[in-house]
Order: sequence, then C-alpha cells, then structure tokens
Amino acid sequence: MPAETEVALERASASHFHDHLLSDRAANIKQSAVRDVFDISMQSSLVSLAGGNPYLQSLPLDRLGDTASKLISEHGLEALQYGGGQGTLELRRQICEVMAAEGITDALPENVIVTAGSQSAQDVAAKVFCNPGDVILVEDPTYVGALNTFEAYQVDAQAVPMDDDGLIPDELERRIAELQDEGKSIKMLYTIPSFNNPSGITLSRERRQRIADICKAHAILILEDNPYGLLRFDDEVFLPLRADNPDDVIYTGSFSKIFGPGLRIGWALVPAHLQRKFYLASEAVILCPPTLNQMLLSAYLREYDWKAQIDTYRALYKERCEAMLVALEQHMPDGVSWTRPAGGFFVWVTLPEDINTYPLLQKAIDAGVVFIPGAAFSPSDEPSHNLRLAFSAVSGDEIAEGVRRLAPVLQEAIEAR
Ligand code: PMP
Repeated sequence: MPAETEVALERASASHFHDHLLSDRAANIKQSAVRDVFDISMQSSLVSLAGGNPYLQSLPLDRLGDTASKLISEHGLEALQYGGGQGTLELRRQICEVMAAEGITDALPENVIVTAGSQSAQDVAAKVFCNPGDVILVEDPTYVGALNTFEAYQVDAQAVPMDDDGLIPDELERRIAELQDEGKSIKMLYTIPSFNNPSGITLSRERRQRIADICKAHAILILEDNPYGLLRFDDEVFLPLRADNPDDVIYTGSFSKIFGPGLRIGWALVPAHLQRKFYLASEAVILCPPTLNQMLLSAYLREYDWKAQIDTYRALYKERCEAMLVALEQHMPDGVSWTRPAGGFFVWVTLPEDINTYPLLQKAIDAGVVFIPGAAFSPSDEPSHNLRLAFSAVSGDEIAEGVRRLAPVLQEAIEAR
C-alpha cells in the first residue's frame, strides 16, 4: 500500500474513533462552497469568475517591500512582539479616518477593536450575543462566510428577502413579527448594505434609516458589514447605517479589499456600552492582532496616498464590472437576468426558477469557467436558480471569455427544461 494511502486510512479511522468527542457546535461547521471552488479555480486553463479576490497588482509592491523591511530592521523588537489585544492606538486612530471617508465622523479609537480580518469580528459578534437557537436575520442572499460563522455557533440564520433596492423593510417587519410569535429570540440583523456579496445590490438611501428604526423598535442589534463601502463606482455616497445610529450598530470594516487580505486586518466599531465585552472576547481568541501587519498598515496610511489608491481600485473595478455587463448582454440567452452593481466585486445572475445552478458548476468547469452556485449564499437547503460571478480578479478580456464559455452551459440548461 502506498505510504500516502496508509496515512489517509489511518487518519480516517482515527477521526472516526474520536467522532463521539466532537461538540454539537463542530457538527454544524461546514466546508465553505467558496473554499471548495477556490482550489479548483486555481487551475490555469480555467477562467475563474468564482473567487472575490482583490486585484493586488495595482499596489506599489516595491515600495511596500522597503517599508516592511525597514519596520523589521529598525523596529523589529516591537513589530515582532505581542501587542495590545485591541490593536495599536495609531492604527485605531487611522481606522477612524478611513471610516470618516465613508461618512462615519464620530468614531472614537477606544471603540475600535482591530480583528483578524472582519471575518473574526463576525465570529466575535456571534459568540458574544448568540446562544444556540437564537436568530440572526440575514439578507437573502448573503455572505457565505458569515453563514458559516453563524452555523458554528448554532445560530438560527433566518433570511429576509431583498429586491433591487436591498432589504425590504416591510418583509423585515413581517419576519420579525412571525419569529417573535414563534417565541424566537432575535439578536441581530446581519447586513451588507453596500454592494452586497454575493448580489452586488445596494440598500437604497430611502430605506436605510427605516431598517435601522425597525431594528431599534424591536431591540435588535445591527451587525453592519461594509468591506466594499469605499469601492463605489460613481459619486453617489451611501451613508453606513452606523453613521446615524451609533448605539445600535456594530460596524465591521476591513483592509482586505482596499489594501490586501493577506494581512488579515479588519475591525469592529462597537457601541461604547458593548466595547468591553467585545474586546475581551476578541482578545480571548487572537490575544492580539498581528503587530507587524498593523505597523505596515499604519505606515501605509501615514506615508502613502491611500485615498488615491482607492480611486485607482474604483476605476479598475468599475471598468471590469462594465466588461462583465457588456459580455452578459452579448452572450446570455433569453430567460437570464443579472444585477447592475454600483460598486464592489460581484454580479448576481438569475436563471428561470426551475433550474438548479449547482449541477451546472461541473459543466461550466468542463467548459473552462468557474462560478459559485447561488445555494452557498442562503441559509436554506433549497436549490438555487442563481449564481455569483466575480469580476474583481480577472482582466476585461478574461471576463468576456469566461462569460462566453458560460453562456452555452446556461443555454443548454434552459433548453433541457
Ligand atoms: N464580509 C464580506 C461581505 C466579505 O465579502 C468578506 C470577504 N470576502 C468578509 C466579510 C471577510 O473579509 P476579511 O476577513 O478578509 O476582512
């Protein structure tokens, strides 16, 4: 028997042997569909419209290399040492400036908690507020990583429908009333109001305060996730829900899309009365956010023109989004529709209702293109007739080629009905 097979068998039987030791929580932890497809999409012959990777090539890499090298040689004893659990004061002050660029002008550094990506801020929020069975309301569709986190805490994620203007306030009220009638404890609304992942949809300005007011009236916290907020294509500004509702919103932000996800630096801006619990829970997991990475980010925000870099990204993603919309217009068969995002990384494609996009993935891979089936982005186990396309990581030409390859797969599915 080859050595690897032997090791694999050993591992399988060992894991079986310890199955009874697993927590109820662990049984709920699933492998993310996005991560599955992520590995496949690395194959070079495929056009990947799957992963929402930012386009890092436009960063000043040589200069950043010099900055990182200096941090280690001149400040290594600090940069490679443990730091405070909440993150460095300098970075928390700078994060307040980044949030000011988004329209949050009253944030105080003491209420900012630097986290290991905004993903870990979501984890801390679920941990701090949710007992097994508690409800978190989510958009339908919503970010798969948040769903995975909520599942791990045995949260009952309940979807609220959206339309082209985002979450529908009347539906939110209706769902809250239904769940309260069932005796459920609703802890939070998790929302990505701007350039939603996966749909690209943005909550209209008119609806924003209404959503906040509904949650306030029912004592439901809002967990506002805004990693794409600065990546709008045009000048229309969408004020975060946090801006006018400082006591009712936990706001999460990230440097992943405006700088680089490899640094794993995100943050939570937490209402003052919740700051301590949130901070202690975050510290209990990560001890402290990575010191070197925080210092590199601080140097970047201090010494580089980060706002100009964001403008570069905005122009680039706008161009790529347009390339995708043009290609969809050109190639998609009748019966297929899609969103027209005002920012972010994603377009959400809708097929006729009786088509399940999951089995189409393998056919698309055979045709040389990868997407993420829509079912990944919903807490329900129902099949989905949607799919997500990302335009952030590939050139306009590749986007056009990817959509050209995808079209016959969808056409065939429509004809086979
Ligand atoms: N929220 C949303 C909506 C995302 O799309 C992502 C990453 N794809 C995250 C949170 C997590 O980002 P990070 O942990 O890299 O900050």
